[in-house]
Amino acid sequence: MFPAETFSDETGRRAGSAGEILAPAKLNLYLEVLGPRADGFHALETLMVPVRIYDQLFWHSNDTSVSGNNFTGEGLSLRVRCLLPNDGRTDQLLGKERDNLVLQAARLLAETAGISPSGRFSLIKRIPIQAGMGGGSSDAAAALMLANTSWKIGYSQEQLLPLAAQLGSDVPFFLSRYFQRHHAAICRGRGELVEPVRQLPRLHFVIAQPTTGLSTAEVFGQLAARAETSDQRAAASHFRLSELIKTLQSGAIASAGRKMSNRLESAAEQLSPWLDHLRDVFSRIGSIGHFMTGSGSAYVGVMRSATQARRAARRLVNMKLGTGKLGSENAESYLKLRNVFATSSC
Ligand code: ATP
Repeated sequence: MFPAETFSDETGRRAGSAGEILAPAKLNLYLEVLGPRADGFHALETLMVPVRIYDQLFWHSNDTSVSGNNFTGEGLSLRVRCLLPNDGRTDQLLGKERDNLVLQAARLLAETAGISPSGRFSLIKRIPIQAGMGGGSSDAAAALMLANTSWKIGYSQEQLLPLAAQLGSDVPFFLSRYFQRHHAAICRGRGELVEPVRQLPRLHFVIAQPTTGLSTAEVFGQLAARAETSDQRAAASHFRLSELIKTLQSGAIASAGRKMSNRLESAAEQLSPWLDHLRDVFSRIGSIGHFMTGSGSAYVGVMRSATQARRAARRLVNMKLGTGKLGSENAESYLKLRNVFATSSC
């Protein structure tokens, strides 16, 4: 069972007989693809930090009364309230509620523990979808935690981790935070080998999400072949990553910003005309490092302070991003940003 104080204001809290968790988004400050694995996935080495953009997941037993309504239904259900810009595509991107990772996680836990699942989840979505910010994975980890407590299963971290890994590559990162209270972590393998990284300074970011999302599978499909062996890549990657972490821990943020990188960025570029443009824009708004997060499509700038991050976000919102650069007739519609955030690491 996880410690009760894990439910702090930052990671979530309990409310009456129901449970509630704030599920954060993540950014990848570094991502290297080490090579293909026998199971068809790619071996990765990545540095992830949670950021202060949260989905909110609630669990109620089927017989609790909420806002004057008595729910007497049986089984497991989910209601999603989306607080993301509603441009007609958000619901489509999120898919059907029965396929939501929250219900997948709860069903998997019930099946493994041999119980019949019951209760109502409600999810408030604020983390952009298909942005490389891990919203679905964070929701899945939160659902495992809530269901584990609410159904009094009491699985340990070791028992929950294989379920998390089965649900998605980033789920173990979010799950292990609830037990180990780390903020940043290096994730290896498919993402399931989580090594906490302590003592990183608070980082401030501006994030822009283009109108078009990117599918993780399609981005990996665009990876160019490379000459080095997996071992050579792993050795070079360990070195670059430990340099980045040491630089961050020393507080030399500007120097660290220049060491942040994402191997998937050049692959994503084949699918999105946005990236080249965003790189150019982010070099003009005072970021001390900028990169795509995960498999995209969100693009991230590291800023010197929270004030600078907010200022940069305002500039991005007001910028006429369509002018010139792409030179196509419909450049304006191409270059609209779906979401712009100023945020910081947790
Ligand atoms: P990652 O960085 O882990 O690759 P991402 O940010 O690119 O994730 P998500 O937004 O987490 O991608 O989810 C991708 C897809 O997962 C969505 O298009 C949606 O169909 C499905 N999905 C299922 N459950 C959820 C959820 N709770 N939140 C978001 N997406 C979900």
